[in-house]
Formats: sequence, structure tokens, C-alpha cells
Amino acid sequence: MSNKPFFKKPLYFLIPVIAISSILGLLLLSTIKLEGSIEKKIFEISTSDVFTIMNNSATAIQSLLKESTNYPEDIKKNRLLQHKIEENLKVLITPNIKYAYLLYRDERGVFRFLADASKQEEKALIDQKFDVESPEWLSLYGEKKALMIQHTLLHQLSMSYLIPIMYHDKIELILAIDFSIQKIEEINHIIHLMQNGILAVMIVVLIILLFTIIQSIRFRAVKKTAFIDKLTNVYNRNYLQKYEDFINLNDFILATLDIDYFKKVNDTYGHDVGDKILKQVANTLLLTIRNKDDIIIRYGGEEFLILIKTQRDGHLNALNVIERIFRNIQEHPFAISNNETINITVSIGVNLVPHKSRTFSEAFKLADIALYNAKNKGRNTIELYDENENIHNTFLSLNEIKEAIEEHRILCYYQKIVDTQTQELSYYEALLRIIDKNGTIITPDKILPTIKGTFILRNITKEVLGICYEQLIKNPLMSINVNLNPHDIIDETILTLLKNYASEPTIAPRLGLEIVESEDIAHRDDAKNNLLELKSLGYKIFIDDFGSGYSNFIYLTEIKTDYIKIDGTIIQKILEDKISFLLVKNIVTFAKEAHIKVVAEYVSNEQIYDKIKSLGIEYCQGVFFSTASALQNHDEDKLS
Ligand code: GH3
Ligand code: MG
Ligand code: MG
Repeated sequence: MSNKPFFKKPLYFLIPVIAISSILGLLLLSTIKLEGSIEKKIFEISTSDVFTIMNNSATAIQSLLKESTNYPEDIKKNRLLQHKIEENLKVLITPNIKYAYLLYRDERGVFRFLADASKQEEKALIDQKFDVESPEWLSLYGEKKALMIQHTLLHQLSMSYLIPIMYHDKIELILAIDFSIQKIEEINHIIHLMQNGILAVMIVVLIILLFTIIQSIRFRAVKKTAFIDKLTNVYNRNYLQKYEDFINLNDFILATLDIDYFKKVNDTYGHDVGDKILKQVANTLLLTIRNKDDIIIRYGGEEFLILIKTQRDGHLNALNVIERIFRNIQEHPFAISNNETINITVSIGVNLVPHKSRTFSEAFKLADIALYNAKNKGRNTIELYDENENIHNTFLSLNEIKEAIEEHRILCYYQKIVDTQTQELSYYEALLRIIDKNGTIITPDKILPTIKGTFILRNITKEVLGICYEQLIKNPLMSINVNLNPHDIIDETILTLLKNYASEPTIAPRLGLEIVESEDIAHRDDAKNNLLELKSLGYKIFIDDFGSGYSNFIYLTEIKTDYIKIDGTIIQKILEDKISFLLVKNIVTFAKEAHIKVVAEYVSNEQIYDKIKSLGIEYCQGVFFSTASALQNHDEDKLS
């Protein structure tokens, strides 16, 4: 696949996902941290009073012992003192403080009870050994100040608070309490609820994000298929329409490529083989371009637009790529079956200076004009749009054509179509002309390439129809044929116009419609129905350029057209080319049996005329009888 510059954007949509997830993660972390700090705060609030009271208690005990020189020994000996100390300790007992006791450390370093405020059944005896659970106890002797030892149990905080009672800078006694704080459980419960809430929100947000991502991936996939041509796997017209404004004209050279005589491939080998060739051509294009930024678009049946990225050193490299494409196609054997290949050629128009155009379509048009020149020079060639040659001047620009329509500088030249036997005028064919600003008459070959496929072509058709209608009104004996493009037939506004004209009696039978068969629309029901409707209104339908290119006879069989106009290029060769002669002869035989009238165009000399006459062709047109010109007054006189 060629590059996909507009699909290749990094996954920007991941950024919000990551951002939101991080924010939620941080929130969760901070609630966990909050839990810790709330716990600490509650603890501080709950304990500050306890510690003050305990300090008072320690001071009181010390004052009871102010006569003593050996605190443990004196307490052990003095029962009254024991009693007073115990009373002092009992003051400390609360629902949260279960134990309050006084310890000393014997000469072997063992902690022993001196007093205990516990209930009778739990009470420790004097000198009963106290097993220290934590080595932190011993750090008291280093620090020599109050010490808190925490043991976090399942849902409550349990602590020991120790106050050393000193005698001559030596720890003689330890006043200790054990207590727990129940409230923390409730607070933790609330915090857990909060955490769960955040977690739930996070999960919901993540699910939504995930859903959005999946949707956007699917959307991108659908969008991608909407922009890729199914048959050839290169970009299609939709892509061009959508992105042409985003293509930087400074970065590319622009080429249009058209397969030569592709209709013949279809006609000779069938449509399926045609498809196969199209696929292989597209594939060759994709294999030949190397830069991932180059773009290939199939913008018409067998027409490709190629955008080659230019390098810093100018457009030479890019032009080399175009030449490689041209040669690769020329040299490539295209498979039409398992063991058969054919060669095909292409014509290419290159615009080396798209940056000089104001819009993409203008740059495109210039490449197309170069392509048109390549076709005119006999095909199988590359033509450059050369601004020095000023091709632009020989073709009318879109704007010039639009202006000409607005300023009514559209006109018709008329060429006579005569009865072959009598050489008398039967009717005219109206031929488009534009008068440019300098008064020069411009012919369709300088007009149509620029507006091919645009709505302007439709507007021109309407102008021409209007002009002819007026002529028919002015000259009641006159008949005129008008050329319609295949797409005009499916245009509602043109159809309405023709219906309106037909409401004027005698107009429709005098206005012939010449239509080139086109595969694009031949199978469309609306085209068929519109033609049938026009026929029923009295219009005569002529198949134009019959015998050239695409003919599937659908107009003959389903519309039952009454006239065919044999392609002029065949008539031209009728004298020297046997095949052309046989072709014309057989068309005439067929037409006679089918009661279809035949017109021969390009009858340029007497010999051709004689041949045509001998074949029994009913009508003739060509410079042998008259060139196309504005209607002369004497013509009008003759007619009216
Ligand atoms: P030229 O050398 O002037 O380009 O002549 P041509 O016959 O190649 O060109 P033209 O534009 O007159 O005809 C193009 C033909 O391409 C008309 C149509 O039959 C054929 N075509 C268009 N789309 C497809 C497609 O998808 N598949 C096939 N097989 N043929 C197609
Ligand atoms: Mg073509
Ligand atoms: Mg072609």
C-alpha cells in the first residue's frame, strides 16, 4: 500500500486515556495516604491527654518516692507505698486503657512488676517477670525519654506508652500503659468506602474510554475503507475530495496517468480482464513509488493521479519516479489469463510546478492538460506542463469559462447535415464555441478538457440548449442536433429544461439529441428511463461516434434509437482501409434491417461522398458540404 499520510497520525487518542488513568491513580494513592495521615491525626488527638495525665502520674509517683534512694527496693518493702502507687495507676485506666503498671529491671536485665492497676484476676504480683515483646523497649535506656510502641492489630491500633522514672540520671522505674483506639476502625471504614468509590468511578471511566477507543478504531477502519478503491487498493476519489485542501502543493509534483486505448482492452478481452489490468497497473504504481509520502489516487475509470514528494534538491528525482512508472508499465507483461499476457501503454501528464497554482484543482487541471497533450501526440508518452509554452493560454481556464457563461459569450456554430441523395440540407449540428475577451472564437478542444467532469460542463450544455431552442423558435423550418454528454442525461435540471421545451409543439421533433455511449451510465436505470422519456416527448436520439470505443448496444436494444452516427475517424479511412470499409458496410446493413437511419460524418471529399452514397447511408456531414459556422442570414432566409 502506498503511504497513508492522513491515517498515519500517532495514537493521539491514547493521551486522554493515560491522563485520566493517571489522575484517578493519583487520587487513589492520595486516599491511601490520607488514610495514614487521618490515622496519625486521630492518634495524636486521642493520645495527647493520656500522655499528659501519665506524665502527671509519673511525677506523682516520683514525689511519693522523694525520700527513697533505691526505688524498687523501697517499694517492694513498703506496702502503703505500693497501695498509693496502685491507686495512682488506677486513675489512668479507661475503656481504652486496659493496663497501667510500673516495672523495674533487675540486675540481670529482666523486667519485673512493682505495681499493676489491672483487675484482681489479671493482676501481676510484685516481682513477677514481665516478658518484653519488642526490642524497642531497650531503646528506652539509650534515649531516656518517653517512648511509644505501636502494634497495629487487625482493625484497631494497640500501643504501649512508656515513661522512664529517673533517679540520678539513671532509669529506675518504667511507668507503662497499654491501650487501643477503636475509632480508627470506623474512620478506616469511611476511607475504604471512599477508595472503593474512586475505584468504581475509575473502572467506569476506563470502560467508557475503552469503548470510545474501540469505536474510534472502528471508525478509522471504516473511514479508511471509504477512502480506498476496492478494485485497485489505492486511494479513491473520496479521498481526493476530502483531503485535496490539505495537500501541500510545495511538497509534490503532480501527474495524471491514463491507460491508452483501455476501452479496446475491455472490448477485446472483457470487463473482467480490464479489471485485472487495472489492478496490475495500480500494483505497478505502488511498487514503483518508494517514498512513503507519495500518493496514488484512482480518480477515474482508468485514470490515476500520482503525487510524488519532491526532495530538497528540486523535482528531478520525483520526475525520475514518474519515468520509472512509465517504463515499468511499458515493460510489464500484464496477465490476461494463466498463460497469456499483453502489453499496455499509458499517457502521463506532469505538472512540475503545482506550487504555482492557487488551488489543488487548478494544479490538477494543468497536469490533466499535459495529459491531454500526451494523448494528442499519439499516446504512450509523458508530457510536461510547461508554463513557458504557456499551454494555459491555449486552453481557457475554469474562470474564463465561468466568465464567458456569465457574460453570454457562449455561442453555437452550425454544420449542415445533408440528405445523401439530394445533397439538400436536412438539419444542423450545433457546435459549441466561446468568444474570448479578445474576440477570438474558441473551439471545444480548448474548452472541454478544462471542464470535463465539472458542473460547468452541465451549465454549458444548458446554454447551448437555450441558444438552439431560440433558433428553433425563430426558424420554424429548422432542425438542429445538440451534443449531450452522457452525464447530462442523468441531470435533473437538463431533463426539466428539455421537458419544458417539449411543451412547445414542434420543438422536440426538430431538436435531435446526440449522445455518446458511455459505460459509466449505460447500465443506470435513470439514464435509460430519461432517454425513453425524452423519446416519448418526441426528441430524436442519435448515437454519436458509433463504432468507436465502447459500444454495448444497450441504447439500440432498450431505447430503440432511430439514428446512429458513425464515428468520423472510421469514415475518414473508408477509402484506404478495408476494415473501416467493412465495418461501415456492415453497420449500414445492420441499420437497414433494424430500420435505423445512418449519418456519416467527416465526409471531406467527393470520393468519400461517393462511397457513402453507394453504401446507401442516408445522411452526410463534413467539409465537403459545409464547414461549421455561425448561421448566415441567407441560411435563415432559406429556412424561414
Ligand atoms: P485513450 O487512449 O484516449 O485514453 O482511450 P481509452 O479507451 O483508454 O479511454 P476512455 O477514457 O475513452 O475509456 C476509458 C474506459 O475505461 C471506459 C470504460 O469502459 C473503462 N472503464 C472505466 N472504469 C472501469 C473499470 O472499473 N473496469 C474496467 N474493466 N473498465 C473500466
Ligand atoms: Mg480515460
Ligand atoms: Mg484511456
